[in-house]
Amino acid sequence: MVKICCIGAGYVGGPTMAVIALKCPSVEVAVVDIWDKRIAAWNSDQLPIYEPGLDDVVKQCRGKNLFFSTDVKKHVKEADIVFVSVNTPTKTTGLGAGKAADLTYWESAARMIADVSESSKVVVEKSTVPVKTAEAIEKILSHNSKGIKFQILSNPEFLAEGTAIQDLFNPDRVLIGGRETPEGQEAIQALKDVYAQWVSEDRIITTNLWSAELSKLAANAFLAQRISSVNAMSALCEATGANVSQVSHAIGKDTRIGPKFLNTSVGFGGSCFQKDILNLVYICECNGLPEVAEYWRQVVKINDYQKSRFVNRVVASMFNTVSTKKIAILGFAFKKDTGDTRETPAIDVCKGLLVDKAELSIYDPQVTQDQIQRDLTLRKFDWDHPIHLQPVNPTSCFNVDQVKVVRDAYEATKGAHGICILTEWDEFKSLDYNKIYENMQKPAFIFDGRYVIDADKLREIGFIVFSIGKPLDA
Ligand code: NAD
Repeated sequence: MVKICCIGAGYVGGPTMAVIALKCPSVEVAVVDIWDKRIAAWNSDQLPIYEPGLDDVVKQCRGKNLFFSTDVKKHVKEADIVFVSVNTPTKTTGLGAGKAADLTYWESAARMIADVSESSKVVVEKSTVPVKTAEAIEKILSHNSKGIKFQILSNPEFLAEGTAIQDLFNPDRVLIGGRETPEGQEAIQALKDVYAQWVSEDRIITTNLWSAELSKLAANAFLAQRISSVNAMSALCEATGANVSQVSHAIGKDTRIGPKFLNTSVGFGGSCFQKDILNLVYICECNGLPEVAEYWRQVVKINDYQKSRFVNRVVASMFNTVSTKKIAILGFAFKKDTGDTRETPAIDVCKGLLVDKAELSIYDPQVTQDQIQRDLTLRKFDWDHPIHLQPVNPTSCFNVDQVKVVRDAYEATKGAHGICILTEWDEFKSLDYNKIYENMQKPAFIFDGRYVIDADKLREIGFIVFSIGKPLDA
């Protein structure tokens, strides 16, 4: 029986391994983590992450061929294939701060693998890492006292949160990069044999190590670039009377462009897009390519611009001040069908409104009060002062009492002067907006940062409506 161990039981490690366990009943899968509460949650009825379909998959395999454990060393020692799916956040201090990937967790996992292993293993980069990371990992692993040989593969994950299980069941492609040596090719084959249990051969792409590592950064950069392109266009639409959804529809009909991922919004979020582009910027700079670095940096700058543009629109529309006005925030997660708030645009939008002294009443179906309070007091990287991370000081900028987290959209909007829709949760489409309007201060404003509402219907009710990317009267 092939034994797989995955170090890191997060948004990637947990769902990916659960699907491998489901699709490969003859493989034993152990997902390990140093975070004991997370492992306890994986072993309970309340999984640590919300992902449609995940509960079902975990229930079918847990205790049979899928195990969650904090005994990292034991499971690594026993495994034939070790996936490493630890977090690779942006460095916050030192060389490359604010751009480079922090590989501390990766390095410590690699040193531990070298230390505890007693037999040869295939080590798989599942985390998103800078191109050439495998070279560093090989160096660390080769310094083991027992002369054990390791093969490193790059197998980046392309799942999207909110549709992770669907993406894992039917991946557009599985990418496996390895050394072009006979041992490297043998390792690639071992991993291919796992995926081939449910993914057709033509969807499994094999490349050299560096192409696989770079392809993940490139894919995220292209996806984020597409969002920034349409968001940049949304600003021009508002200024000229064009309508961004009509423009997206028209350009998406061109088969060279295609219709997907052309929705405008208040900005992209999530733990990956910004982090991976910043990492790409850093890699370009380190390789003497400042113009290429600047090109990709613009994708993040437009994203920041979109968020501040939205805040300015809210404040300007509400007679240039939101001081002491109650604003309902509908949605805080970075997208629907996830409880993940990492880098969600809601953080910057809320901070912008709080600095203008608004009183916020926040509702999201999957995000907890603790998450929101933590996110609103975190630091943010400042492009103009790249060495320093600017702390948002709650006492000088805003007061935590300005934020209330409530249990439903009706409570959030009661007595509010305005509503900002920041996540495209389906439930926001079918709210009783007549009832909401009755219970709000007048004039009642609604700012749709996600295109979820029918602006015409809401205007008939009496709302003053702003939809991002649409002219003010459309
Ligand atoms: P996460 O923070 O949810 O999970 C990482 C886990 O690794 C944490 O639970 C942490 O405790 C654990 N960990 C860290 N060091 C460890 C160690 N030495 N031993 C054992 N456990 C350790 O992160 P995530 O969202 O799952 O992302 C993981 C990687 O996958 C990142 O590189 C990310 O860029 C990449 N990725 C993420 C997504 C996504 O949608 N979240 C998609 C594709 C790729």
